[in-house]
Amino acid sequence: MLPQMPPRYLINFDLSKIKKIYTDFLVVGSGIAGLYTSLKLCDKGEVILLTKGSLKESNTEYAQGGIAVALGDKDSPQLHMEDTLKAGANFCDPKAVEVLVTEGPKCVEELIELGTKFDKVEGKYKTALEAAHQRPRILRARGDATGAEIERALSEKVINENKIKIKESILIVDIIAEHNTCYGLLALDSNTNKIIAYFAKATILASGGAGQLFSNTTNPDVTTGDGIAMAYRGGAKVTDLEFIQFHPTALYHQGSPKFLISESVRGEGATLKNIKNETFMLSYHPLAELAPRDIVARAITDQMKKTKNGYVYLDATKIKDKFSQRFPTIYKNCLALNIDPEKEYIPVAPAAHYTMGGIKTDTWGQTNLTNLYACGECTSTGVHGANRLASNSLLEGLVFGNKITQKIRENIAYSSIKKLEELKLSYNAHQERYEEYNPIELKKELQKLMWNKVGIIRNSSDLKKARQKISEWKFIFKSKLKTTEDFELANLIILADLITNSALQREESRGAHYREDFPDRDDINWKKHIVY
Ligand SMILES: Cc1cc2nc3c(=O)[nH]c(=O)nc-3n(C[C@H](O)[C@H](O)[C@H](O)COP(=O)(O)OP(=O)(O)OC[C@H]3O[C@@H](n4cnc5c(N)ncnc54)[C@H](O)[C@@H]3O)c2cc1C
Repeated sequence: MLPQMPPRYLINFDLSKIKKIYTDFLVVGSGIAGLYTSLKLCDKGEVILLTKGSLKESNTEYAQGGIAVALGDKDSPQLHMEDTLKAGANFCDPKAVEVLVTEGPKCVEELIELGTKFDKVEGKYKTALEAAHQRPRILRARGDATGAEIERALSEKVINENKIKIKESILIVDIIAEHNTCYGLLALDSNTNKIIAYFAKATILASGGAGQLFSNTTNPDVTTGDGIAMAYRGGAKVTDLEFIQFHPTALYHQGSPKFLISESVRGEGATLKNIKNETFMLSYHPLAELAPRDIVARAITDQMKKTKNGYVYLDATKIKDKFSQRFPTIYKNCLALNIDPEKEYIPVAPAAHYTMGGIKTDTWGQTNLTNLYACGECTSTGVHGANRLASNSLLEGLVFGNKITQKIRENIAYSSIKKLEELKLSYNAHQERYEEYNPIELKKELQKLMWNKVGIIRNSSDLKKARQKISEWKFIFKSKLKTTEDFELANLIILADLITNSALQREESRGAHYREDFPDRDDINWKKHIVY
C-alpha cells in the first residue's frame, strides 16, 4: 500500500495578496550545509539565508566526535572510500562516495581557512580513530565540541558578509513550484505571524534531518524534517527513508534531553556493562564496543530487555586520557546531572541520531525539480547507504554544498526569477480548524509510537499498527494550520507515514533497518532503493 499523498501546500495563500521578496539565492538552514553554501555562493549574487530558530540552533551545533577526512600520510581517499562503502552495507552509491572522499580534503582545508580551529599537537592537526575507520582521520575541535566550533567560525563569516542577509525565526512552510520548476518559498514569519513569498533564481534546502520523530533522540527540537516533507509535497523525489541511524549511547536521565555520549568514549577504551555489572558486547560482535553502531544499539536494546531496565552502563573510569580533559563538554553535562564519569558509570541508552534518507539528489546536489537543490542531512546523496560511517555527515554538508555552488555557476545564465504576472498562484484547500487537537501532545504521541513500533527492532505487525495510527492523525491536514508547532507536526506525520511504509516494504535487514521477521540481508531482492 502506498502512502496517501498529503496536500500540495500546508497553507491557503494567494500570491497576489501576500508580501513578496526577490533575491538571487535562497538557502534554508543555518547548519554546516547552509552556512558554507551561503558563503560559497555570495560572490555570485545576493543570498537570503533563512532559518527557523536562532542562527546557531541546528544539529551541527551539537556534533561532538568530529569530521572525517583523509589528510594524513598514511591515509588516502581510497581507504576512506572503502570504510564508507563497508559501513553502508552494500547500499552506497560509489560515485557519490568517491566525490565525498576525494573532494572532502579541499573543502576541509577551506573550512580551516574560514576560521575553524581544529585541535593540534606540536603544530600538526591531531587525527583520532573512530569505529569502522581503518585510519585515524577524525579532526576535532576543543576535544568534543567540533560542531560548535564549526558553527562559530562559519556564523561569524556569514554575519560579516554583506551579500548574505540572515533571517532568523522564519519558518519555511513550502516550496513554490510549478511544472517541475522551483521558484522560491512560502514562509511564516514567527515574529509577525504573516506569510511571505520569497522568489529566487535558485533555492537550496539545507534544512537537516528528522530526529524529532522519535521520543528518544540526540537531535535538538528544530529537527522535524520540514525540508524533506515540503520537497516531497512539491514533487521532489525522496528516498531511503527507512534508514534511521540509532546511536547506541545517549545519556539516560529521566526528564533530561538525550545528550550524546560520543563513540570516541568507547574508542578511548570505555566498556559497556549491563546493570548486573557484566560486559556483554563480545557475545554480539568480535569488535565488541567498536562494532558498527546498529549492532551496538541492538545489543544494548537486547540487554535492556533481558535485564528489564531502561539503560545499561558505560564504564569510562579507566580510559587512557583524563575524561575531563579529553571530553570536556560531555564531562560538564554529566556533572550537571551529578554523574562523575571519572569515578562512576554513565547510564546510557540508544536514541535516534541521524536520518540517512531524504531528498534525492545527484552528485551536484540537484533534485529532480529545476532550480531546487539540497545538501546536508536533509538529502539522500547515496554516500551513507544503509548506515552512515561516523563523522562523514559534517563532511557531506561541505562537499555537496560546494558541488551545488559549482553547478549553480553553470546554470545561472539560464534561470530567471519568474515574473509575478506569469505566476498567478493561489491555493485554497484547508478548512478552518474542524477538530481541536493539541500539536504538542500529538507530537509526543507520534514520537512514542515511532520509537515503540518503527524503532531499532521492527516487525510487520508493529509497522502495520503504526501505519494505522498515523493515518488516523492525518485529519490535521484538513485543518487550518497556523503555528510553527502545527506545521512541524504536519511534516512529522508525513515523514512518519513515508518511513513506516518504506520499513514495511523492505522485507530484509540491512544496516540500520532491522526487521526481526526478516533478519537477513537480501541482496537478490532488496538491493534497490524505495523512492517516493
Ligand atoms: C549530538 C550530535 C552529535 C553529532 N556528532 C557528529 C560528528 O561528530 N560528526 C559528524 O559528521 N556528524 C555528527 N552529527 C551529525 C551532524 O551533526 C549532522 O548530520 C549535520 O550537522 C547536519 O548538518 P546540516 O547543515 O545538514 O543540518 P543542521 O545542522 O541540522 O541544520 C539544519 C538547519 O535547518 C533549519 N531548518 C529546519 N527546518 C527549517 C524550516 N522549515 N525553516 C527554516 N529553517 C529550517 C534548522 O533550524 C537548522 O538551522 C551529530 C549529530 C548530533 C545531533
